Amino acid sequence: MTAEPTLYGLIDDLEKYLEYQRDEGVQRVEVDRAVLEELAREPTEEKAEEVTVEAAPIPADFESLEQIAEHVLRCRSCPLCQERIHAVPGEGNGDAPDILFVGEGPGADEDQLGRPFVGKAGQLLDKMIEAMGYKREQVFIANIVKCRPLNNRKPLPEEMEMCMPYLHQQIRLIRPKVIVGLGGTAMEGLLGNKVSITRMRGIWQEYQGIRLMPTFHPSYLLRDPSKKKEAWLDLKMVLAELGKEPPPRK
Ligand code: SF4
Repeated sequence: MTAEPTLYGLIDDLEKYLEYQRDEGVQRVEVDRAVLEELAREPTEEKAEEVTVEAAPIPADFESLEQIAEHVLRCRSCPLCQERIHAVPGEGNGDAPDILFVGEGPGADEDQLGRPFVGKAGQLLDKMIEAMGYKREQVFIANIVKCRPLNNRKPLPEEMEMCMPYLHQQIRLIRPKVIVGLGGTAMEGLLGNKVSITRMRGIWQEYQGIRLMPTFHPSYLLRDPSKKKEAWLDLKMVLAELGKEPPPRK
């Protein structure tokens, strides 16, 4: 089930799109004055709980996804714990699903609800999953960082590094057949180095012995729908790897 996107969710999507443009070398964008005034409005969202960072190492021996989720909800291992309303451990089929989708981190809607990909980008991801012939609950959806960076900035390398043991152990327990990395930051978190998603998309990579397909983040596709064709090619390669074909269009 997805939620209506909030103003903060839309701002989140816009910021991610601008970051992609910056990473691809774009130096100027034209913005309507009304948009700037809207963005300058005083935020009224629920204030995050006040917590202190306790950089305790993340255990390496979780025995279940529930254990990981419980730990994530209490985690204070990096400064992102101070900025969240809810941590977002991830959700879906944790029993050897065909696909694990990995995004960058929670946005405003996800932070509000404690669930991954529930805003506008999440609605598009749901459509992508459906077009592949799956239901959302048949795949697993997670992020590199489990808490939302303030103002939806890109997570810092040290924040990604600190949080990655959770995803690493989720992958060990979930045992997905294929991982789909959504966007450059997700790929950066998984591979541990900076990437250009425009150049890397559609080219198989590997994470811990599992086939990993990089493709565009749904937020980016919302801002540049012309890239949906390329994303669909990537997803069809994933289906081919799984020995499947996309279902006929309704
Ligand atoms: S982002 Fe990850 S490491 Fe940082 S506080 Fe949240 S769960 Fe812990």
